[in-house]
Amino acid sequence: MKVSDFLKEDVSPLLLGAFYSRYIFSNDNLKIYTEVSYKISKFADDYNLLINSKNILLEKLNKISYPFSFWQDVTKTTSNTPQMILKFELDNDINLTRDSFYNRLNVKILSQDFIYEEKLNEYKKMFIRGFAESRGSIDTTRPLIAMDYFYNSLIEVKRARILYDYFNVPFSVLNFNPRELQNDYVTGRRKRNTQLRFNLYWYVKHIGLLNEYKVSIITNVYNNIKYSHKDGEVKYFTSPDIAHSKKDSFDFMLRYYANNIFNKKLSDFEIENLRNELNFNTSSDINSFKRDLSLIELIRLNTPDECSSCKTTKTYTHKNTGRQYFEYHHVISIGKNHELDDENNIVKLCPTCHRIVKKGSAPETEQKTVIRNILHNRPNVFEFAKHIYDLENFEEIVNKIWQNLK
Ligand SMILES: [Zn+2]
Repeated sequence: MKVSDFLKEDVSPLLLGAFYSRYIFSNDNLKIYTEVSYKISKFADDYNLLINSKNILLEKLNKISYPFSFWQDVTKTTSNTPQMILKFELDNDINLTRDSFYNRLNVKILSQDFIYEEKLNEYKKMFIRGFAESRGSIDTTRPLIAMDYFYNSLIEVKRARILYDYFNVPFSVLNFNPRELQNDYVTGRRKRNTQLRFNLYWYVKHIGLLNEYKVSIITNVYNNIKYSHKDGEVKYFTSPDIAHSKKDSFDFMLRYYANNIFNKKLSDFEIENLRNELNFNTSSDINSFKRDLSLIELIRLNTPDECSSCKTTKTYTHKNTGRQYFEYHHVISIGKNHELDDENNIVKLCPTCHRIVKKGSAPETEQKTVIRNILHNRPNVFEFAKHIYDLENFEEIVNKIWQNLK
């Protein structure tokens, strides 16, 4: 299939999900492909089952992808641990680069009507299967389905956001484990890829499984996951309920990673500090992800210790942290508007400046000076305010913010 057709035609959400999750360019850039792959597991140590499952899966993938039934079996059986590989290949007839392919795919996904429906519909589920099951492996020690997470650019680092922005995946069932912070990576024992993981209990109940081999591993390993029913090509399961956290630590990790780790040359010392700040050293990494990380902590770690208005770096030393003390201020006061609880709406202020911008605590001119300073010193906050008020004019925005002070 030509990539130009792929981008134009009405293709199965499964294909969109599979390519969005991972696309690979051939060395000569003439082909772009994605893969479904898995290996034999000691928890379902049956070679016939493995081969059979692959044949059934190939049939299912081609049925789901109809009329573009171009999945091919490129399994390598020569090695000791045979790897089942099913491949879907596109001809790069319009000479796309990696970035342009990714961008066009992204636009295509965002132009699908089904993603704007409120419920987790069958199309969304198919996308998630392409995204997750195509490459995810079942963790046999903790209830997770885990996949290597690849990216070429900062935009791609954040691609998993689409899952909770549009695909009804609760962020509390997602977990992001950047390679730079993995214990094995830090100690140099083994460098593994960054991983994205879904909670398995949630996954098998709501998304279900296509691959019979994975079904077999799950039922052999997890006795609290039970087969429930089949719907089309998919098997669903019953599983323990999980508590959904309201705090978005997954998104925090993505943003934190994008801002502080991705493409940075970090010394061992700096990595160790990051690990400490994120509590990676005090517990197993899976537990630390469950730690509630607030937006305030993000600001605390990500912005310099200086007042966003008067720019002083000296207040007084905080007795617990040993750092200078700053207060956190929502530039646009938040009422019930959740949208305003954003990293671009919170700044550090010294206690003096903070007192000034409390409603009625100083003359209008003084309060507006602080607001102007903040917008000058923090361009991201100014951009955010423009967006929220849908205004361009600096003084109009200052006035709006002043009127809304709380
Ligand atoms: Zn100040």
